[in-house]
Amino acid sequence: MSQFPNSVAEVHIPRLYHNLEVLREPVADTVQSMAVIKADAYGHGAVDLARRLSDRVEWFAVANVDEAMELRQEGLDNEILVFGTPTKSSANAYLTYNLVATISGFSHFDCLKENTRYHLNIDTGMGRYGFLPDQVQEVRKAVQDYDHLTCEGIYSHFATADTPDSEKVYDQMEIFREIRSHFSTDLITHMANSGGAAFYEESHLDMIRYGIGLYGYNPGPVAIEGLQPIMDWKSYLAQVKPIRKDMTVSYRATWEAPYSGYLGVVPVGYADGVPRNLSHNFEVMIRDTFYPVVGIVTMDNIMVFLGEQQLQEHEEVLLFGKNGNTAYDWAEKVGTISYEILSRLTPRVQRRYVE
Ligand SMILES: *Cc1c(COP(=O)(O)O)cnc(C)c1O
Repeated sequence: MSQFPNSVAEVHIPRLYHNLEVLREPVADTVQSMAVIKADAYGHGAVDLARRLSDRVEWFAVANVDEAMELRQEGLDNEILVFGTPTKSSANAYLTYNLVATISGFSHFDCLKENTRYHLNIDTGMGRYGFLPDQVQEVRKAVQDYDHLTCEGIYSHFATADTPDSEKVYDQMEIFREIRSHFSTDLITHMANSGGAAFYEESHLDMIRYGIGLYGYNPGPVAIEGLQPIMDWKSYLAQVKPIRKDMTVSYRATWEAPYSGYLGVVPVGYADGVPRNLSHNFEVMIRDTFYPVVGIVTMDNIMVFLGEQQLQEHEEVLLFGKNGNTAYDWAEKVGTISYEILSRLTPRVQRRYVE
């Protein structure tokens, strides 16, 4: 952990709880909750968020065994599902740490160790991991043959549930319903992500896998009403200095001061997670006022044109968050999604939890 961080990602726990309530609102009480905290909880800090969620969700999900082990080593004892594929080398860890594996292909039956618990993953149209629908009879047989393993669940993942009224979502649900009918009724059955939870009530089944919505962002362009971004990424003015008309700023001298005023330097750059492609195209907030970021984003710093305002050094700068621009606004500008902006904040950014 950094002793003298240049920036802090404040993660607001009351907003996290609020978002979980918003996401649970259309869902029956009998449906379980899985908090998807892969990739360090989309950059928010997996262990820290898991501690705050452990009484409010039954399950956690992570991408790989390392992420799951970290949760166990920190004493979390909720159920943990690993989305990624088991390997010979990771097989023992599923048992040692009581993790639930995902079986997505036939080779996984061979590599897992006796008594390992698993969920089957069916590819109903995502086109990523999972058995194909026409393999259902073989899968059923494998579940029976490998009875030294414990099949406890079956799931599938949507490709297009980030928006309402997607034809493909209904197709995937229909395919999954048919596949599901070939297996024991005891298996916990799940399909919905944040979009499924909000936009497709028929997808709720036994459990919902909540990811992006917990962090306060919409899965796509259509809003889930009431969500609040839980992270406010803040830095400060490390230097304020006069800049004369026609002076240029940053590499390649792409920006010239239109008139004499003040320039602020903020000590975050692309090595912290500010996309370089935002250059010339975004603003930050200082004392409730937006100021343009000028010149090219550098590795460790960005520059802000303050106009005639001679702001104080050490003044707080809001990069993104609930009350300024959001990670979604950044994502729109650089042609990506909020998921990528959030999960790309680097360890240089100190996470701080506001209870
Ligand atoms: C990441 C992921 C989720 C969560 O999706 P969100 O859109 O963030 O809610 C759910 N299920 C699987 C299999 C995933 O990989």
